[in-house]
Amino acid sequence: MRTLTVENLGFSYGTDPVLTDVSFILSEGETLSVLGPNGAGKSTLFRCILRSLRNYHGLVKVNGRDTKTLTPAEMAGHIAYIPQIHRPAFAYTVLNVVLMGMAGKLPVYLAPRREHEEKAMETLATLGMEAFADRSFTSLSGGEQQMVLIARAIAQESDFLVMDEPTSALDYGNQLRVLEQVKALTGKGYGVLLSTHNPQHALSYADRVIALREGTVAAQGTPEDVLTSSLVERLYGVGALFADTAGGRVIVPVSSGPDEYL
Ligand code: ADP
Ligand code: MG
Repeated sequence: MRTLTVENLGFSYGTDPVLTDVSFILSEGETLSVLGPNGAGKSTLFRCILRSLRNYHGLVKVNGRDTKTLTPAEMAGHIAYIPQIHRPAFAYTVLNVVLMGMAGKLPVYLAPRREHEEKAMETLATLGMEAFADRSFTSLSGGEQQMVLIARAIAQESDFLVMDEPTSALDYGNQLRVLEQVKALTGKGYGVLLSTHNPQHALSYADRVIALREGTVAAQGTPEDVLTSSLVERLYGVGALFADTAGGRVIVPVSSGPDEYL
């Protein structure tokens, strides 16, 4: 069983701790959703996992190995990062953006070859994006860009995907399309760690949830167990009602606490 393990992680940018004693295990084939208000420490957690912050306390392990001992190529083989969509400085084609995901597999002096291009095209095809291959990345909509960045991560052929708020810049339909795609990837065996601002996304799509509040774990477990009106209140300062519908369980936020609606 492949795992991404965080043990007693602690981090501070200065004197005040931003993360304290954060622990979890993400296994292959599951989605772990990180919830928490702005400033709770979600991105900092991801930066520690991705080694862009290194002076943390505790351990980050992938498949049992301390990530601090891995070479960059080994690290890339284990964990792929899917950034929030951003505006790149150069207008790469979609195909080239996906090929960049394979860069770790190519000797530096080798330009991508036909087989790499075929692989990149296949990856785009699995996401229904092959028709975009020759388009400039900057000309795509936010949802299309996010799909291409997912394709790039898949091309990297790592076991785990880390996504910091992959849906926050997307419209309603594209949010669900990206989440459906993520679900399909966990079905293929990837382990996915993603943060979201929307508890409904965690409820509908996550296998497990970890809730951060002021850098500590406020709750952790299955969405059904963890997502309660008291947790939503504690995290976001708003009440929440839950209802079971034909489309699954839904969360309705209520600004003045749930009592008067019951
Ligand atoms: P989230 O992603 O949950 O919104 P962050 O991890 O970005 O939270 O931030 C957690 C806390 O760390 C916040 O209080 C934020 O102001 C602080 N912080 C984030 N990045 C830095 C930095 N580079 N230097 C100092 N403080 C930072
Ligand atoms: Mg963040």
